[in-house]
Amino acid sequence: MIPNNSSSSATWLLEGDLIESSGLTRSRLLICRDSGIILDRGPLAGEPDISWPDGVIVCPGFIDLHVHCRDDPGGSQRHKEDFSSASEAAIHGGVVLVGDMPNNPDPPSNAESYLRKRALADQHSLVDVVLYGLLASGVTPFRDDIPWKCYFGPSVGEIESWGDSTVEQVLAPFAGQMVMFHAEDPAILARHSDQPTHEQRRPAEAEVEAIRTILKTCRALQIHAHIAHLSTADGLALIEQARRDGQCVTTEVTPHHLSFDIENRNQFECGSWLQMNPPLRTRRDRAALRQGLISGAIDCLATDHAPHTIEENAAGVSGVPLLDTFGAYLCRLADEGIPWQVLVERASTTPAKIFSNFIDGHFGDLQPGSVASLTVLDLRQPWSIERKDVRSRAGWSPFEGTTFPGQVIETVIRGVRRKPVTAELIQELSSDSS
Ligand SMILES: [Zn+2]
Repeated sequence: MIPNNSSSSATWLLEGDLIESSGLTRSRLLICRDSGIILDRGPLAGEPDISWPDGVIVCPGFIDLHVHCRDDPGGSQRHKEDFSSASEAAIHGGVVLVGDMPNNPDPPSNAESYLRKRALADQHSLVDVVLYGLLASGVTPFRDDIPWKCYFGPSVGEIESWGDSTVEQVLAPFAGQMVMFHAEDPAILARHSDQPTHEQRRPAEAEVEAIRTILKTCRALQIHAHIAHLSTADGLALIEQARRDGQCVTTEVTPHHLSFDIENRNQFECGSWLQMNPPLRTRRDRAALRQGLISGAIDCLATDHAPHTIEENAAGVSGVPLLDTFGAYLCRLADEGIPWQVLVERASTTPAKIFSNFIDGHFGDLQPGSVASLTVLDLRQPWSIERKDVRSRAGWSPFEGTTFPGQVIETVIRGVRRKPVTAELIQELSSDSS
């Protein structure tokens, strides 16, 4: 349910510091509420409806390629999250479009189950949603306008990805398509299953070897491989080499792998229960990931938002909630010295390119004709996230107890201005949909 225009005027005029991957320009945008498109840009005549002051920046809306909204037609996980709560968290974090993972009890692994989930997303999400189809043993491509997700190793209990098939057999029908991979080698994980810690049970070599196999197989099949939540320096080196050899391969890094490692984790309130797959790595890995994000060797920032509660995390469930803090986290990276043009490229422009075959309209810049989905950040107002502010039903954030140097103050979805979601707005939207 993407909100409609409720104002009488068909257009509105915004003035502000516009940041794109090409740089910063103070300019105006004319936005159409009905079509949700940027109609014009430049020194446009008229009184702006909103003029953002110095210190506030307007970015093309952020896109998170990797989110677990947990909703499906059976609804057995809605107590954890659904399209409604996940999209509230997205708006809170300045995210206008999410790629939703298919690891549901009723996974989108055929045309009918995909359409059932599509209907749910269309009805309940406040932001755009791209649904990944589940690529598993026995699944054949049932559409050519969606990306696929393949769990290369066991991550979540409900999916048996491989069965008795070989990697090549399972992937062959998807030649020419985009496949996101969870890269951990099952045999290596099995060999380490009796190790004492989560990190030792899922060693770096499991990721590196999985990436090696994925790259080799996808090269032969001309699959666009996208390596999810990259966590190792050695995995990144393999990806860079494949790219130099001409292969189409992209990758992403999460805020947790950029922020935490096995050495620094205990400096943080949540350090002892931070558990995810792949796990936290070494300081060397974390430094390489950060450098990769800056250089572009890593294409984008993605959260792997997993709405588990603190109790579940502490009890050993893997995954952490990160949608609410997406935009504020970028403010931190900017404060640490990464230029905003680079961050906008990693959080909007490049993810829009990766998803270009799967979305309605052009995202990732602020040019006439593009979708008017925007993120507005105030770099003058620090923000500490408190548990009560978290919109994800997970109800906590790994960044509690830290202060971000800026925050999202407005998220525009297809031409409609949305504040970071308030209780009043939730009330208004739920009465709309009833
Ligand atoms: Zn994930």
